[in-house]
Amino acid sequence: MELDFSKSPDGLLPAVIQDKLTGNVLMVGYMNAEALEATRSSGKATFFSRSKQRLWVKGETSGNFLFVREIFADCDQDTILIKAEPAGPVCHTGAATCFEPKNEGKALFLNYLQKEIIRVRKNEPSDSSYTSKLFARGINKVAQKVGEEAVEVVIEAKDQNDDLFRNEVADLVFHLLVLLEQKNVDLDEVIDVLRERHRP
Ligand code: AMP
Ligand code: ZN
Ligand code: ZN
Ligand code: ZN
Repeated sequence: MELDFSKSPDGLLPAVIQDKLTGNVLMVGYMNAEALEATRSSGKATFFSRSKQRLWVKGETSGNFLFVREIFADCDQDTILIKAEPAGPVCHTGAATCFEPKNEGKALFLNYLQKEIIRVRKNEPSDSSYTSKLFARGINKVAQKVGEEAVEVVIEAKDQNDDLFRNEVADLVFHLLVLLEQKNVDLDEVIDVLRERHRP
């Protein structure tokens, strides 16, 4: 992955920090070659602070580091995209992201949940894992759980307690993901079906 720092007169390229799990844009900072190298070697996003005029490890005082998972260059090598996992709120205001409140993209977490969590519980079962035990009980049991959670959603839909309703929907979505994984169908494929149906 190549970047061309000479494209900017001050040697600083914008670095977009994206949440690896949700896809949300967390913040934008600037990196010179030295900052990118420090980011690579430490695994923590390190910027060149234009106000402090020095390298700045995001989280150096707050502890809210950005743990770097992937680094990309754009098409013409003058912008950096970093997928990271934040240790805490990213913005100095205390907000989770610098672009709150209008910064959607949370649904990507569902993909992460299926591919990185549920799939691992299936392929590397652990005794302490509810999900691993569910897989061990077979597809009929998983399908039955989806049915039960759906009924619970129906029951809570009639009630006034939105918190319980949200929790039951979360249970249903989770068990649906387990069922998808049991069937070796990716959530992505279901999204493809929905998008096929959608004609803007
Ligand atoms: P931190 O790097 O989180 O320890 O914060 C140290 C200082 O960096 C803060 O007091 C701010 O001045 C600045 N800062 C922190 N987070 C951001 C951000 N997301 N964007 C711009 N400046 C920030
Ligand atoms: Zn570019
Ligand atoms: Zn901010
Ligand atoms: Zn439930």
